[in-house]
Amino acid sequence: MKIIMLGAPGAGKGTYASKILAPELNVPHISTGDLFRAEAVSGSELSAKIKEIIDKGDLVPDEIVIDMLKNRLGQDDAQNGFILDGFPRNMEQAKMLDEITDVDFVLNVRLADEIIIKKIAGRRICRKCGYIYNVADIHEGGIDMPPLLPEKEGICDKCSGELYQRDDDAEAIVRDRLKLYYEKTAPLIEYYEKRGIVKNIDVNGGPDIMRPVILKLIGKA
Ligand code: AMP
Repeated sequence: MKIIMLGAPGAGKGTYASKILAPELNVPHISTGDLFRAEAVSGSELSAKIKEIIDKGDLVPDEIVIDMLKNRLGQDDAQNGFILDGFPRNMEQAKMLDEITDVDFVLNVRLADEIIIKKIAGRRICRKCGYIYNVADIHEGGIDMPPLLPEKEGICDKCSGELYQRDDDAEAIVRDRLKLYYEKTAPLIEYYEKRGIVKNIDVNGGPDIMRPVILKLIGKA
């Protein structure tokens, strides 16, 4: 199955893709953000440029993104499907993706901006394996999102890696990233709605609550 995750930064795309969809469907979770964060610390020719762009919350130029994505989609594990998270980010990328492959579903994850800002402030990520935790405890606006804590503070349960907070998860940068999302990425919802492949996910709880909702949407419940 080939799936695109759409939705604002921090809405839950990465968590649902990595913890629910990828293991259930047995296809890779391909996050262009993760690919660029790895590139930023790889010491390659592009590292410094990419790090600067990510830290500011800007978008990496389309040519670089497309090269990276084509390469990743060409790998063996992506031949039976994939879950794209963070791509496409604008209309040009969506059109380029159309030239490479078709997709079965676009899952559009929806969560109010003010909740997103609180949730992102609590996000902690394992430096080694990328597993996502959250220290925020959110109960408002009909949303019950308890924290997703590791057993030992600051240490990943899965691999004992160190948990860290992304530089671009600082509130001022998140507000810029949200603005960019509404300007460049949100119009893609209509683009895919015209094909009748968009399914909306209204987030009202943590991954345990959302799991059956998401599996039902893709016909796996
Ligand atoms: P994310 O983890 O999806 O929030 O992505 C983190 C950062 O990586 C973004 O703020 C961008 O700087 C960069 N990035 C990720 N995916 C893309 C993309 N498809 N196009 C351009 N930049 C991207």
